[in-house]
Amino acid sequence: MSAAVPVNIELQGLPALAVSGCRDGCAACCIAPSISTAMPKMPHGKPAGVPCAHLDQQLRCELFGLPQRPAVCRQLRPQPSMCLGNRDEALAELSRLEAATAP
Ligand code: SF4
Ligand code: SF4
Repeated sequence: MSAAVPVNIELQGLPALAVSGCRDGCAACCIAPSISTAMPKMPHGKPAGVPCAHLDQQLRCELFGLPQRPAVCRQLRPQPSMCLGNRDEALAELSRLEAATAP
């Protein structure tokens, strides 16, 4: 596994869901990791394992393109070592990495 895998999204950022390469309907990065940044619907940030309140019905980011979207969400890009083969694999890996890097 590459050391460049975004282990802690507080440092590495979240995926841009509409960016090419992000699997439609995945949203693993918006569920498994924690985010400390305040968001309009999550003023205290997002706990690990909790779906972001800004995911819409299609599991896309409703804050995409808006200034309220956390910087960490804008910065992360899909990468094979994180996205793996399917959503379940990505969720499992991101959950494992979150737990491994929890304070
Ligand atoms: S794991 Fe990959 S495909 Fe899934 S939401 Fe994150 S960046 Fe997108
Ligand atoms: S703000 Fe958007 S990109 Fe960030 S975790 Fe929430 S749904 Fe995902």
